[in-house]
Amino acid sequence: MGISPADGRTMPLVLQTSGGTTGLPRPMLYCPQDRETMAILGGRRFALHGIRPGDMVLVTYSLGLSNGGMAPREALWRYTGAVPVMTGSGANTPTRRQIEIVKAWGVQVILGFPSYLRHMALVARDEMGIDPHSLGIRLIGTHLGMENRRQIEELWNAPAFDMYGTHESGMLAAECRHQSGMHVQEDAFILEIADPETGALLPDGQKGTVYITTLYKYGAPQIRFNVNDLSAFRTDACPCGGTMRRLDRIYGRNDNMIKLRGVNVFPEAIGAVVAEDSRTNGEFFCFVDRVGEAAVERMEVRVEITDPESDWAAVRDDLERRMKEVLGVKVIVTPAAKGELDAYTGTSQTSKIKRVLDRRK
Ligand SMILES: [Zn+2]
Repeated sequence: MGISPADGRTMPLVLQTSGGTTGLPRPMLYCPQDRETMAILGGRRFALHGIRPGDMVLVTYSLGLSNGGMAPREALWRYTGAVPVMTGSGANTPTRRQIEIVKAWGVQVILGFPSYLRHMALVARDEMGIDPHSLGIRLIGTHLGMENRRQIEELWNAPAFDMYGTHESGMLAAECRHQSGMHVQEDAFILEIADPETGALLPDGQKGTVYITTLYKYGAPQIRFNVNDLSAFRTDACPCGGTMRRLDRIYGRNDNMIKLRGVNVFPEAIGAVVAEDSRTNGEFFCFVDRVGEAAVERMEVRVEITDPESDWAAVRDDLERRMKEVLGVKVIVTPAAKGELDAYTGTSQTSKIKRVLDRRK
């Protein structure tokens, strides 16, 4: 059931890719039924979050090969009655211009990666003298992962809703207004959680790797496809009364995982520790090296500090201790000035933020 460009003789095809952190992005061809269903599933996600007809929705995901911006656009304009405002990432539309657009056009909803949402709010507040609260954003849609929801909500004075999707399968799960886990779209997918080592299925409540089976896909369906993302099913009931099972947050995406001295480290977990500390702006970047004759593996985490007058040594010590507790392996923390890491992360320019440079290879 593979689809090739030659199938364009019999049906219209769309090509989009994954975000692609390294090398060439992975292409995927979508046939009409699959793409339409994806848009419906995306529209449901937005409805669950509380997006309503007439809303103006700023889409800050990259425009181009990746599905990031294109899939939400199709879902919004075809199935929600809301109007997508396709600014794209900071490289497509400078961040200052994005904020001016939000203000001038009365945008009520913003979609974006947590790091870009933070960046936008700080550019508005610190560089443009515009209080993000004054912009009247009603809600935010994002993939939270291990990010600090409250920090983003406080910056914008708006609730932030989590979702989980992949470019191969589309919108798998999304939070309703109660923010208590992501409802799986069980009429379109079967999701299972398995032990990452043995592959044995785990009972609800236990954390494991996500297996995806697509029920709607005509081209390139997935059957018990192991995406290596870590999550768990919630066991409590959602106050909304919806009975679709809910995924807890995504604890880590395997694409990003780093093996450091035998320990699996997820940059998402590092980001969560950084975001907890209000002396930082949440921006960080990890360098992984081998040092000395013994080629000992070392990870250095550089972290941006908001206030240049704060005690950097204290921030370093606190973060090093906290990361050892959370990650189970020692890392070195180096404080950096605000904006210093942008050249590595691309936060102001791209919506596919880089967090790690592994120089061991
Ligand atoms: Zn619910």
